[in-house]
Amino acid sequence: MRRYDPEDMPSGICDCCGEACTAQPIDVGIGPYEYWGARGNHVDIQLLSPCCEAEVVEGGQKLIRTAKHVAKKPHNNGQIQPGDTYYLRVYRHWRCGGPTWITVKKIKQTPTMKEQASTYETLMAVAALQERV
Ligand SMILES: [Zn+2]
Repeated sequence: MRRYDPEDMPSGICDCCGEACTAQPIDVGIGPYEYWGARGNHVDIQLLSPCCEAEVVEGGQKLIRTAKHVAKKPHNNGQIQPGDTYYLRVYRHWRCGGPTWITVKKIKQTPTMKEQASTYETLMAVAALQERV
């Protein structure tokens, strides 16, 4: 069996959803089979995106805008309920020599994210103060 070094995996964007990712060896073989009484195990390892098992193509993804909102109506099939705080993240995806497109993600704020955000805001405030000195 071949060994796959994670460092050697092609990275880029998923050809299906545009998510930035690194390819992973995924077995797309049909697995154990029987053909006229002969048994076998069909293995076909391909380097594909972990999210959609699609080709990883050259390109990139960049977070271009983030905003905090309080939901007025349910989002993400009810994962975010009215009154919940969520982050709206706008990403730009591009394919090398190909199109550019935008996706929007809504991520519900969890208690740990709240902590991280306040730590981040504190650090930024400290940095801003230090710059002025
Ligand atoms: Zn994908």
